[in-house]
Amino acid sequence: MKIFAVGRNYAEHAKELGNSVPTEPIIFMKPETAVLKNNAPFYYPYFSQNIHFEVELLIKISKEGKNITPRFAYKYFSEIGIGIDFTARDLQDKAKASGLPWDIAKGFNGSAPMSDFLPLASLTDVNNIDFSITLNGVQKQEGNSNQMIFDFSHLVAYISKFFTLKKGDVIFTGTPAGVGAVAVGDVLEAFLENNKMLVCEVK
Ligand code: ZN
Repeated sequence: MKIFAVGRNYAEHAKELGNSVPTEPIIFMKPETAVLKNNAPFYYPYFSQNIHFEVELLIKISKEGKNITPRFAYKYFSEIGIGIDFTARDLQDKAKASGLPWDIAKGFNGSAPMSDFLPLASLTDVNNIDFSITLNGVQKQEGNSNQMIFDFSHLVAYISKFFTLKKGDVIFTGTPAGVGAVAVGDVLEAFLENNKMLVCEVK
């Protein structure tokens, strides 16, 4: 299983981190060991002092493909979920300042909590999906799939130019504005269309 993620796919979030809005998707990967399932707790890693949450819509690849065109990309994903792209912002900022890769800031153990997946067909409009996250009961981020700079189909098509997509691969499709730090004892709850899909306690 491969996990892809997309940087700066919501204009307001790109701006809050002082980044420009991209003209092509910015793709990075997380290893399978980053996954947390079944509302497993997140253990704050000793190597960072600034872990941020980023709530994101996830799509799951339903069949193998490469060089997929945007027009036919919808045939390659059929399930949606929600996840948190935990980011060691201090390590990421340090790497970015030196122009170095930031894999360790994004792919460390436990950095990819994921909800269960729902059939996309259960939602009325793929391009109009609300999602949000609360921190200790207070809403911190809310977004809608219609705010993505690159929509699901364009992401699938773009990624498939470089990587063969396989059934079960997951794409974290980017985060809206409002990311912030977590501390030990915090509880994050992520919602898809007002359904609580994911709970993650920081330990
Ligand atoms: Zn992210």
